[in-house]
Amino acid sequence: HAQFAVKRAKVSGRSESYLTQDFTIARDAFAMETALRRAIENRRLHLTYQPICDLATGRVTSFEALARWTDEDGREYAPNDFIPVAEESGLIVPLGRWAIEEAARTLAAWDLAAGGNCGVKVAVNLSAIQLQRDDIAPVVAAALAATGLSGHRFTLELTESAIVSDPDRIAGAMHALKSLGTTLAMDDFGTGYSNLAYLQKLPIDVLKIDRSFVTEMLADRDKVSIVRAILSLAQALGMKTTAEGVETNELAQTLAALGCTYGQGYFFARPLAADAAFAMLGFAAPPS
Ligand code: C2E
Ligand code: MG
Ligand code: MG
Ligand code: MG
Repeated sequence: HAQFAVKRAKVSGRSESYLTQDFTIARDAFAMETALRRAIENRRLHLTYQPICDLATGRVTSFEALARWTDEDGREYAPNDFIPVAEESGLIVPLGRWAIEEAARTLAAWDLAAGGNCGVKVAVNLSAIQLQRDDIAPVVAAALAATGLSGHRFTLELTESAIVSDPDRIAGAMHALKSLGTTLAMDDFGTGYSNLAYLQKLPIDVLKIDRSFVTEMLADRDKVSIVRAILSLAQALGMKTTAEGVETNELAQTLAALGCTYGQGYFFARPLAADAAFAMLGFAAPPS
């Protein structure tokens, strides 16, 4: 194998440092897997919460829970660094369960601090692997039971790749999640290969328009056309829409005028620590 790699490197004119670098990447992925496994066990992961706002009123309707990992040296890793490793190693299953349980605990704590339903939902990301390998609806049901939350307070975000991977199994899992009362959102819509027939058949409530179309809308007319097309598709199918990557007031106004339901992005807020997210809701600070 090493010989083959050397030959290929010569043919493509690459230097030896390319091989060394490749080896380092492979070794680092393994080191990261080991470290991530420990981090899950030692609870070194936490969730940040980014508001999703109603574009017509500006009010926060939900918070998306986004995982962060702080290693022993205090370095913080973003999901794009460790979710792929978690998916390849299967660690996404315990990580994903933890995210569902942790988000439920946080929302229940907010309700307690608000003296009743604090008025928002929480959205958790699900990976395709979790939908294929884990019995996801019972995991969500257990988290709801443990915290006393209604399923209506939970949104689950899936990607197109999850649906394409194993449509029948995924459809079963989605219907089971819907029967708990949860909302289902299609994440990063427009970047995958979804079959439009599935969109119609599956119980999807919200299309999240991928950030790549939204952030450049004001500079690129083609992006506006794509956003308009997604909005009318969603409307025809009776779905709501969330624009990702709303970074400016102008974008928020434009999307509202086009009829997009919700917006999420740096214009409203970056992902926040749980306390800061709760503070956005304007309840009196919980007694400490
Ligand atoms: P996503 O679900 O599409 O989440 C939105 C991502 O866009 C977040 O990145 C968020 O910080 C970022 N973002 C939000 N608003 C803006 C904006 O206005 N401009 C820009 N440039 N970026 C914005 P983050 O937190 O790094 O997460 C990346 C991805 O990792 C997520 O994409 C999601 O697919 C995945 N992820 C995060 N947490 C989990 C988890 O607990 N489980 C699974 N399976 N995936 C997760
Ligand atoms: Mg998401
Ligand atoms: Mg997304
Ligand atoms: Mg995304």
